[in-house]
Amino acid sequence: MDKNQKQNKFDVIIIGSGPSGYTAGIYTARAGYKTLIISGILKGGQLMNTTEVENYPGFPEGILGPDLMNNMLQQCKNMGTVLISDEVSSVDFKQYPFLIKISENKYYSRSVIICTGATPRKLGIQSENFFSAKGVSYCATCDGPFFKNLELAVIGGGDSAMEEAIFLTKFASKVHIIHRRQKLRASNIMQNRAMTNDKIVFHLDTKVEEILGDHKVKSLILKNTITNKNKKLNVGGVFIAIGHVPNTSLFKDNIDLDNNGYIILKNKSETSVRGIFAAGDVHDHSYRQAITAAGFGCMAAIDVDKFLTRIDK
Ligand code: NAP
Repeated sequence: MDKNQKQNKFDVIIIGSGPSGYTAGIYTARAGYKTLIISGILKGGQLMNTTEVENYPGFPEGILGPDLMNNMLQQCKNMGTVLISDEVSSVDFKQYPFLIKISENKYYSRSVIICTGATPRKLGIQSENFFSAKGVSYCATCDGPFFKNLELAVIGGGDSAMEEAIFLTKFASKVHIIHRRQKLRASNIMQNRAMTNDKIVFHLDTKVEEILGDHKVKSLILKNTITNKNKKLNVGGVFIAIGHVPNTSLFKDNIDLDNNGYIILKNKSETSVRGIFAAGDVHDHSYRQAITAAGFGCMAAIDVDKFLTRIDK
């Protein structure tokens, strides 16, 4: 191993920078391990697109998502983690130390924690791509203020859809929630908040057939899935909140994934490859909370400590 390789050799490389990645970094760096976090270009993960977080313990008045993430980042830095704000281009977990490349730059590590999270799912209709950034959005927090005094649509029946719709009522004249089934998936508390908001209208058993407009969104063609009848709904923007896809394409040839692309954990937080661990939404499709992601990050860091201690003996 030449000098350059030695400089780029770490005890732990953490890929991703949501609550799981940052928490893992705080723990491994504090335990004395040389830790690199490769954060992606947009640091901080999904919470950077959130407004108020009311349920992260320790903040009785709530905290803004970006503030929470910046605090975690600062805590990582204070512990001595090295941070690179870039995307990993490839990994090789068949060699040891493991190899991680950012373009042509090579980084080696004795262990890896994958914390790459998940990204918003798309509806999959052609007009969705055409109107992207012309009225179609996946982030109410980011784009809501651009849609003042308009009627808006939110697609989905989960907690995210309820949360986005409630948030959008701050700007919109009316918000239409469009859900493909009769029964909502969202928790009771979020359903109730949306249902008691007099700016929100529900369209159940309804799916989006088409998004129409010229240079920006003007209306939707909706299909009632029971009667098969179509109707037109005039809206100035569409917020798609139909779940997420795990960010695992980088790893598909290296570790075991389930049918939906989520990482399969084999032994606590360890993946199918010894020394490669995962934490957060990249393997967890049940809880998906900031606090559980942070908890998974902590667990992975403790498992890394045990792994490195064992091989150092
Ligand atoms: P989710 O719970 O998976 O809900 C996705 C929704 O989108 C479902 O209603 C689903 O319909 C619908 N959907 C999926 N694919 C669709 C398609 N192609 N066309 C139309 N509709 C489609 O996802 P989420 O709402 O993003 O929530 C993810 C997790 O984060 C959940 O565990 C949630 O509790 C949590 N979360 C919590 C909060 C909070 O507590 N404040 C806020 C946001 C998220 P079906 O119901 O028919 O499958």
